[in-house]
Amino acid sequence: MTKSPKQIHPDYDLIIVGASFAGLVAARTAAHRSLSVAVIDAKPEPGARVRSTGILVKEAIGECDVPAALTRKIPGVRMYAPNGDHMDLTAPGYFFLATDTAGLMRWLAREAARAGANLMFGARFTHATLLADRVHLHRLNLSARYLLGADGARSRVAEVFGLGRNREFLIGLETEYEETPTVDPDFLHCFIDSKRAPGYLGWVVPGAGMTQVGLAVSDAPFGAARKPDYQAFLKSIDNRFALWNCEVLRKRSGPIPCGGLVSPLSTHRVLLTGDAAGLVSPLTAGGIRLAFQYGRRAAATISDYLQDGGPDPGAVMAKEYPTFAMKTWMRRLWSVAPPNALLNATLFTPPMRALAQRIYFERKAVKTTGKSLTAPSSGETLSVAI
Ligand SMILES: Cc1cc2nc3c(=O)[nH]c(=O)nc-3n(C[C@H](O)[C@H](O)[C@H](O)COP(=O)(O)OP(=O)(O)OC[C@H]3O[C@@H](n4cnc5c(N)ncnc54)[C@H](O)[C@@H]3O)c2cc1C
Repeated sequence: MTKSPKQIHPDYDLIIVGASFAGLVAARTAAHRSLSVAVIDAKPEPGARVRSTGILVKEAIGECDVPAALTRKIPGVRMYAPNGDHMDLTAPGYFFLATDTAGLMRWLAREAARAGANLMFGARFTHATLLADRVHLHRLNLSARYLLGADGARSRVAEVFGLGRNREFLIGLETEYEETPTVDPDFLHCFIDSKRAPGYLGWVVPGAGMTQVGLAVSDAPFGAARKPDYQAFLKSIDNRFALWNCEVLRKRSGPIPCGGLVSPLSTHRVLLTGDAAGLVSPLTAGGIRLAFQYGRRAAATISDYLQDGGPDPGAVMAKEYPTFAMKTWMRRLWSVAPPNALLNATLFTPPMRALAQRIYFERKAVKTTGKSLTAPSSGETLSVAI
């Protein structure tokens, strides 16, 4: 599956930079459409250095039929106020999927290779030249009729071609622990706390064969930097989950774009997708479903362009990609980080629940239970990075 650049024919229809959620789904789609496809990634192998918690919303499996063996169903969300009160939220028929994210990445890579794409790991994109009918990657001695940048939040493809760059980020930190019975497996545990996770939230996830504990923070309004204080967060949840007993398996961190779609997102023969294009919900910080959906659509549009003289892929995707304008402003508002006392007093009130429901579960019916609530309602939650 992995070939060094020198062993293969250097001329392709499509080169994709980035072998992750967006790039691999795009590669599979383009190869199925009979394009010759190369995928290059700086990582040594598929599944190395995973940055994501890897939670999928239910809709993601409509975009990509992920093997059930790599997932674990989580039916609900348990949302905690800073004072420890919580409510449980479920929606009939709805669920989230925790994933063996490295395993999922390896599966996506196998799928792309099986469809006919050449995957090259340990191959970093640095520079390229745009010719009239091709894009040429000198250092790797590769060229292609089209280049798709799926190289993540700080895209080098965007930089090289003068395309739009992500400017606003959440910074996420996560530790994987061995699986522990102290974490109720039926819920994503989400912690709203302006002191420890200002501008976003903390989470404890009963993952696929382990427990994931993390938090993300945003910069303060007008750009003042904030740093995640993971130790303070851990201390605040230790009585509940006794994580000091658990072995640490892995740690990860990374930036999550939260400023909406970048602009411009294409130039002649070059297009961005996934995180590189800013395709992450600014409110939920979820990008995997969008990477699946728009990675596939970008590849299909490039195939139309190259094979059938279809319209410019950049112009087509500029109309299809969501801009997240409203959600970007709502996230900026959340980055103010209201005082914890205010959150304790208001978090489970009907207007807040209604607002959160609209954002996270949209039109799905929701059942809520929990000690903060006196009666079931249609309320919903600010959710972990999904
Ligand atoms: C801590 C954290 C937790 C998250 N949790 C969730 C979650 O639970 N659910 C969810 O939906 N989203 C989550 N996200 C967001 C989600 O991970 C991203 O939206 C998603 O990974 C985007 O996929 P992508 O394919 O666009 O880019 P990425 O997954 O970022 O992949 C980019 C790829 O490009 C490669 N690359 C980069 N530069 C180069 C270069 N110059 N040359 C060659 N290769 C290069 C990288 O090695 C990488 O493989 C989380 C993000 C973080 C940081």
